Amino acid sequence: MSVIECAFCKGKGKDPFGLLSPLSICQVCLGKGKVSVTPPTIKCAFCKGTGIYLDKRITCTVCGGKGVVTVSEGAKTCSECKGSGQAPDGLPCLACRGKGVK
Ligand SMILES: [Zn+2]
Ligand SMILES: [Zn+2]
Ligand SMILES: [Zn+2]
Repeated sequence: MSVIECAFCKGKGKDPFGLLSPLSICQVCLGKGKVSVTPPTIKCAFCKGTGIYLDKRITCTVCGGKGVVTVSEGAKTCSECKGSGQAPDGLPCLACRGKGVK
């Protein structure tokens, strides 16, 4: 396990969009500002490491808002989405589940 800065709130621990209240804590790191991930990890292709789903104010469904995803050793760029993690319809690529590698 390694601990990284929470991408969704940029380590602030607050809900970046303050949807419920400006004092709401970040739902990804539960206010800690950090999240634990299991190496090896890569930047989430689908949200480009932002932890945000497309332009919406919700967490990326691929990485859960962490901004990185765990990959298997020797994973290769997904041939379906060419590493973008996006299917032609803009949803997460089904072949790699949005990771951009498989
Ligand atoms: Zn957070
Ligand atoms: Zn993501
Ligand atoms: Zn793909």
